[in-house]
Amino acid sequence: MSERKIYAVPNVQTPNTPVRFDPEVCVGCNRCVEICPLDVFIPNPKKGAPPIVLHPEECWLCGVCVTECKNKGAISFIYPMPLKPRWRNKETGEVTQLK
Ligand code: SF4
Ligand code: SF4
Repeated sequence: MSERKIYAVPNVQTPNTPVRFDPEVCVGCNRCVEICPLDVFIPNPKKGAPPIVLHPEECWLCGVCVTECKNKGAISFIYPMPLKPRWRNKETGEVTQLK
C-alpha cells in the first residue's frame, strides 16, 4: 500500500490570527482542534506543540476553543479592532482598551 502525503498551507491572503497560543502552557492535547465548529485549527505534527491556525478567516470568535481548554492561558483571543472597545474615565481621563 502506498503512503500518501497531505500538505496543509495557511491562507496567506488573510494572515489574521483570531487566537494566540502560549507554547509554555499549551500541552498540544488538541481539544480545541476537535471542538472548533469551523475547523480553524489543525493538530501540530510536532507532538505536544500548539495547534496550527490554518483557516483564521473562518473564525466566528464563538469562544468554544478557549472555554474547552483545560490549561488556563494556553489559548486566548486576539479581538479584531472593531470589537475592541475603548472607554475614557470621566474623572481621570484615563483611556482603557480591551486587549
Ligand atoms: S490550547 Fe488548550 S485545548 Fe488547545 S491544544 Fe493547547 S492545551 Fe489543548
Ligand atoms: S473562537 Fe470558535 S470558531 Fe474561532 S477558533 Fe475558536 S472555536 Fe473555532
